[in-house]
Amino acid sequence: MMTSTTGTRDRAITVPTAATTALELRHVVKRFPGQPPVLALDDVSLGIDHGELVAIVGPSDSGKSTLLNVMGTLDRPTAGIVAVDGVDTAKRSDDEVAGIRSRKIGFVFQQFFLLPGMSAVDNVANGLLYQGVPLRERQRRSAEALDRVGLGHRLDHPPNNLSGGERQRVALARALVHHPAFVLADEPTGNLDSRSTEAVMALIRDLNDEGTTIVVITHDQAIAASLPRQVTVLDGRIEADTGRPTEVVRP
Ligand code: ADP
Ligand code: MG
Repeated sequence: MMTSTTGTRDRAITVPTAATTALELRHVVKRFPGQPPVLALDDVSLGIDHGELVAIVGPSDSGKSTLLNVMGTLDRPTAGIVAVDGVDTAKRSDDEVAGIRSRKIGFVFQQFFLLPGMSAVDNVANGLLYQGVPLRERQRRSAEALDRVGLGHRLDHPPNNLSGGERQRVALARALVHHPAFVLADEPTGNLDSRSTEAVMALIRDLNDEGTTIVVITHDQAIAASLPRQVTVLDGRIEADTGRPTEVVRP
């Protein structure tokens, strides 16, 4: 098929023919027990297509972390459906969900969570540990992922010899190394200065241009505004959603 793009952000979204979304939440409720109980997510429905780059934005206490945990299958909702790449997780055991998580989801956190005594390449190779990939293959794929984030020349550096921006790039490589259905990034620039923030956000946009589905959770309106779709969370509900980018139909 012939393709063309008209502007930098007006790029093609390749909509897969299979009717699966990368992530689908339907009528998700999360209630925390207590006196009184907290309704942290109140009937949240949200679909994210393969190839999207989405910001989830909201103020403190709006429910972003709870939503991240539910989207990332780290926590089960009180009610509602969470489907990862077309698989309804409610119908799966905890062990099965852990397997889905390790294969289908990549995580990036504000605090990087890299192991300090270990080289960048080994940190990234850790992302393949639970998939039975042999060591040599893990290291080969890890080097490839680091190359993708522009750190091919830093393979043997431990994180403590890297800048904050470079550490987050290692974390992005680790999130990508197993080719997940989507990456969840929780305040990925929260610990970075403004220059590294720009570099990491540019990398996130590049990775998305290459086809990676990425969800960025942030309280930062400017970061959210720089992404093609913004979902605004307030008091546990979706207050606004600029929507999936319309499919570009080519002549
Ligand atoms: P955000 O990440 O946007 O700051 P959270 O998802 O952390 O928001 O919290 C949403 C609401 O749920 C808050 O009122 C918070 O106090 C409450 N909450 C979050 N986690 C728990 C928990 N484990 N137990 C009880 N209340 C919680
Ligand atoms: Mg939070």
